Amino acid sequence: TDIRTLLLSRIRDVPDHPEPGVMFKDITPLLADPAAFSALTEALAELTVRYGATKIVGLEARGFILGAPVAVRAGVGFVPVRKAGKLPGATLRQAYDLEYGTAEIEVHAEDLSAEDRVMVVDDVLATGGTAEASLRLIRRAGAEVAGVSVLMELGFLGGRTRLAPALDGAPLEALLQV
Ligand code: IMP
Repeated sequence: TDIRTLLLSRIRDVPDHPEPGVMFKDITPLLADPAAFSALTEALAELTVRYGATKIVGLEARGFILGAPVAVRAGVGFVPVRKAGKLPGATLRQAYDLEYGTAEIEVHAEDLSAEDRVMVVDDVLATGGTAEASLRLIRRAGAEVAGVSVLMELGFLGGRTRLAPALDGAPLEALLQV
């Protein structure tokens, strides 16, 4: 089977989650299928190698599940970007706007350096706010952005447009477009 068909067949649409009117893309059936999970890991690792990344930044929480096996497969390090208040060491913190209110994410400053080229990995690009804030953190840590790679891009939310300035020419790769 075509890899895109396989991946798409393992993503479940959950209506009205986490709130009414939202169609949530649930990747847990994909994670539970070893062939689909392996194919996804392989495709994201190929992008990581193609763009010359030295580290993967995974975005809490599903970016951890995907980013860790991708990092091992690509032979690069893994760095978690977490919601504020979770990381124990010295962090850089970045605020970003949500539809209602703001959120903050953090990274351990010493996990990234000027020698690093970083690939951001997540399951879904929605509004792009989380990915945009993560790119700011990577640059503030002194590292270079290799790109952003996601399983699925929700095109109607305009994340690609929002992300463009922060990407500054680096690629946004989505295996699936909705
Ligand atoms: P953003 O709007 O692009 O910042 O998305 C916020 C976070 O929520 C990201 O980590 C996404 O992976 C996650 N997210 C948003 N919509 C969905 C969805 O439909 N399924 C799974 N994750 C989602």
